[in-house]
Amino acid sequence: MNSEMRRQPEAIAEAIRAADSIAICSHINPDGDTIGCALAMRLGLLALGKKPSVFCEDKIPDNLAMLPGVETFRNPSDCGEAFDLFLAVDVSDPARLGTGRSLMERCAHTAQIDHHPTNPLFAETNSVDGYAPAASVLVYEQLRQMGVPMTREIAMCLYTGMSTDTGNFSFSATSAEVFSIMSELMRAGLPLSELSRILFRERSREQLRLLGRAIEHLRFAGGGRIAVMTLSRQDFLDCGALNEHADTIVNYGLETVGTQMAVLAREDEPGMIKFSLRSKSPQRIDDVAKSLGGGGHPQASGITLAGTLREATAVVVAALEQKLETEK
Ligand code: 5GP
Ligand code: MN
Repeated sequence: MNSEMRRQPEAIAEAIRAADSIAICSHINPDGDTIGCALAMRLGLLALGKKPSVFCEDKIPDNLAMLPGVETFRNPSDCGEAFDLFLAVDVSDPARLGTGRSLMERCAHTAQIDHHPTNPLFAETNSVDGYAPAASVLVYEQLRQMGVPMTREIAMCLYTGMSTDTGNFSFSATSAEVFSIMSELMRAGLPLSELSRILFRERSREQLRLLGRAIEHLRFAGGGRIAVMTLSRQDFLDCGALNEHADTIVNYGLETVGTQMAVLAREDEPGMIKFSLRSKSPQRIDDVAKSLGGGGHPQASGITLAGTLREATAVVVAALEQKLETEK
């Protein structure tokens, strides 16, 4: 991990103090952490009398519709304005900004809050902790550092980020810090039971149909240690499903007894294959993701490759098998 990589809430606070208008940008294919971070930060900045706007290139998943301020998200390509400060949240590299990248280039100053160990520290001011289990932990710390009082609404956003990135507080990165933050969120009136139902105990019909397809296509490689699932464009069409409906399906592969790695390959656009890689700790897969042009965390990474579903999947599975082989 880069030695420059550290939490710097004071430096971010300084950049925020000097700004009036602030563009907060989430990553493409947004998840609960990046959206929770952006909306918690938006509420915090409003409380400080700033003018925040939130941006995301892609559609916000339906199960995040309950978050306060979610209706204010705009597509960066619909915005011609410049802002005093651009703040990326949970964005592992500039490519994950999508069209937010040109918005970033128009802003007077740039900053970011992130938790990906592969982050190249692409902003002027970077508060990045590659060990933090969720970027929302860093946003919590940031709001606290700036003296923003905790509210039920901010708690909803931060809980969503922390719980979704930690697999509902179960992945190995889940820390004592997360639970001490949770205790403060509970005191602020967090509707835990309602939100955890929406996030973890309900799925849409489209998700369920798509899951059926993925499980039908489930096969094993690497002597049974790698679960492989694929979803073609046709599968999405047949199920009436969007890309976001596939987001947690890879976990079903990993949850199979005997597997150490799981991969879900999905044809997000014709000829464009998006891979989700997961592994059981201490097995890592981020190095394989990185070697193929992707990135992420030790046990949860992603790659995007051009090609057919079959060819691209063969490349990724061969790389995972090779890794298991060399580690034997
Ligand atoms: P997911 O499989 O849930 O889409 O992504 C898992 C992790 O890998 C996330 O933390 C995400 O930031 C990272 N990731 C996903 N897709 C890509 C990609 O195409 N490139 C890079 N560099 N990282 C990715
Ligand atoms: Mn995250």
